[in-house]
Amino acid sequence: MLSTQSVLPQIDLRSDTVTKPSPEMLEVIRSAPVGDDVYGEDPSVNQLQTLMASVFGKEAALYVPSGTMANQLCLRTHSEPGDEVICDYKAHIFNYESGAAGNLSQVQLHPLHGEHGILSVDQIKSAVRDKAYWNPWTKLIALENTGNKAGGTIYPIERIKEIYEFSREAGIKTHLDGARLWNAHVETGVSLNEYAQYFDSLSVCFSKGLGAPIGSVILGSADFIKKAHRYRKMWGGGMRQAGGLAAACIYAYEHHLAGLKQDHLHLGMIAEAFSGIKGVKIDWDTVRTNILIADVSETGKSAAEWTELLKNQNILISPFSATTVRFVTHRDVHPDQVERVVDVLESLGTGN
Ligand SMILES: *Cc1c(COP(=O)(O)O)cnc(C)c1O
Repeated sequence: MLSTQSVLPQIDLRSDTVTKPSPEMLEVIRSAPVGDDVYGEDPSVNQLQTLMASVFGKEAALYVPSGTMANQLCLRTHSEPGDEVICDYKAHIFNYESGAAGNLSQVQLHPLHGEHGILSVDQIKSAVRDKAYWNPWTKLIALENTGNKAGGTIYPIERIKEIYEFSREAGIKTHLDGARLWNAHVETGVSLNEYAQYFDSLSVCFSKGLGAPIGSVILGSADFIKKAHRYRKMWGGGMRQAGGLAAACIYAYEHHLAGLKQDHLHLGMIAEAFSGIKGVKIDWDTVRTNILIADVSETGKSAAEWTELLKNQNILISPFSATTVRFVTHRDVHPDQVERVVDVLESLGTGN
């Protein structure tokens, strides 16, 4: 016989990538019309691409297997070997893409120390290099919204606009890693279309908070996407009957977008409860969407020990560094589970 404790379902706050397709989504996947997408004949992939181009106000879109491939295809398409890409030092393209920029595109990244993942125009200006032949050439400014490693922070639209205006004067392209742009959009009310107009290219993920199993889309001009399409095939990302997956992305966009707001509310409740524990430090400026990165260095326990302690309560979190832990809310964390997390954290807080 199993004890009650051991059958309590795990509450997985490690990432918003752990969501599983709902029965409704599985039915959409099962019944999606499909064809050979390398021939351009998959109606569901084509529908997703047309829909996204229209949502973001771009000429064209391309479905790709992962967010990493999405970003890297954009870097490759914008650049030549020896070029340089300006980004924040917490950027996903700098930290979590296996060094792909140097390997696949032969470009170098120029990471700057922004505040909570957000760069200033002056910082960017002073990082742009002269076009001397011995310099790397500054080709691209890559921003991330929301900023993952920064704690789900939102780029203010005014700042994006200023950076864009500078990029036009300087003749530099702009790229947005918008894996979680959806979260910024539901939180600020700034339309996806408005965000997109300040970028020559964007990548957006369907497998994060939106809860589809697989895939990202890149967006840009028709010429840009035509070039990226060739690199996608070169890199082994050309897919055949991918329509079921694309249909899941359409379903996720149409049915799960508004629900992200709920994830943000849940995260706020968890942050509040965790901050009640003695020694836990939270920078509230970073608590904006569905990610919390909290400093536990003064709690007397390491990040690994906090992770273990909560795991014993069937709550999974990520040790983010030796002294920080990460909580991420998503659509498979239900209100009653958030309540349970809050209860557990509050009980750990009392007695301190
Ligand atoms: C998840 C993520 C990606 C893409 O990651 P994949 O694991 O390749 O899908 C890109 N950028 C950010 C900010 C992300 O959070």
